[in-house]
Amino acid sequence: MKKLLFGAIVLGFMSACNSDSLSNQNENPANKEDASSADMFKRGCASEEVRQEALKSNAELRQKFVTLEANTEKFANELKLGKVLADGTVEIPVVVNVLYKTTAENVSDARIAEQIAVLNADFTGTNTDANKIPVEFQTVSAGDTKVKFKLVNTIRKATTKTSWATNDDMKKVSKGGIAATSPSNYLNIWIVGKMTSQGKTILGYATFPESAGLWNDGVAIAAPYFGKTGASSPFNLGRTATHEVGHYLNLRHIWGDANCGNDQVTDTPTQTTANYGKPSYPLYNTCGGVQRSVMFMNYMDYVDDAAMFMFSAGQKARVQSVIASTGARSGLRLY
Ligand SMILES: [Zn+2]
Repeated sequence: MKKLLFGAIVLGFMSACNSDSLSNQNENPANKEDASSADMFKRGCASEEVRQEALKSNAELRQKFVTLEANTEKFANELKLGKVLADGTVEIPVVVNVLYKTTAENVSDARIAEQIAVLNADFTGTNTDANKIPVEFQTVSAGDTKVKFKLVNTIRKATTKTSWATNDDMKKVSKGGIAATSPSNYLNIWIVGKMTSQGKTILGYATFPESAGLWNDGVAIAAPYFGKTGASSPFNLGRTATHEVGHYLNLRHIWGDANCGNDQVTDTPTQTTANYGKPSYPLYNTCGGVQRSVMFMNYMDYVDDAAMFMFSAGQKARVQSVIASTGARSGLRLY
């Protein structure tokens, strides 16, 4: 009470002064009072002193301390940069590289934003067609994979090429392409007018996580299948990017790229081969003498955009493993 009263008097007396001198005036009397009550029992805690003593005599402990503080700082920085969100979601920064010959191929910023929105919806399980997931697959649906995407840059470059191959030329400046932006830290997406592989038109292709950080690391998509507005039906709902980014995050084709193959995920029923178009549910395949209803509505099948609307929990685990701080694509968590 005495301290408060004194403070109030000083405050009244000094009210015409600026706040700096006011606080200076306030500090001295308070210190004096502290000194006069030095023998009062005050709160004390010895943790830091005890720690310092222990650190002095134990090198292993010192090393653990340094690592602890470094990890803490790293985590705080990741939060600050928005790369690892408060709920543990990793927000992958995306660079879109557009190589265009025609105006239509020079996809608009709005269409790029639309594509990022599709990726975010599909990878968080908030896509509006998630309600079409059959009851039998609802229990193994991934829901939120805890991966999101954020556009950080768009690079545009005119080209005279009408068609590109899967030989990564679009990623080489010497071939008229655009070099990847820091592929360890950014998901690079290249958009080209048209792509072919072995004489056939393809929608896109991706590198798997063993290529993390290499010059050719990323996803290539042909412009007609990128985004939604102005895209080419039936691949005009942005699902080509969802599928290719699935590969980029270590997901295989759901049929395991072989007859009755293995996609390394246990909750996706073994199926004979790829499905196309809009299959009607249920669709049964027999592999190894066992008949199963297959998950053709999975993003990693080949069905039309409107017919794919889920990842499985097993696929989520693979994605999570890759973007974990110990994973092949942990660089995506850091700038
Ligand atoms: Zn694929």
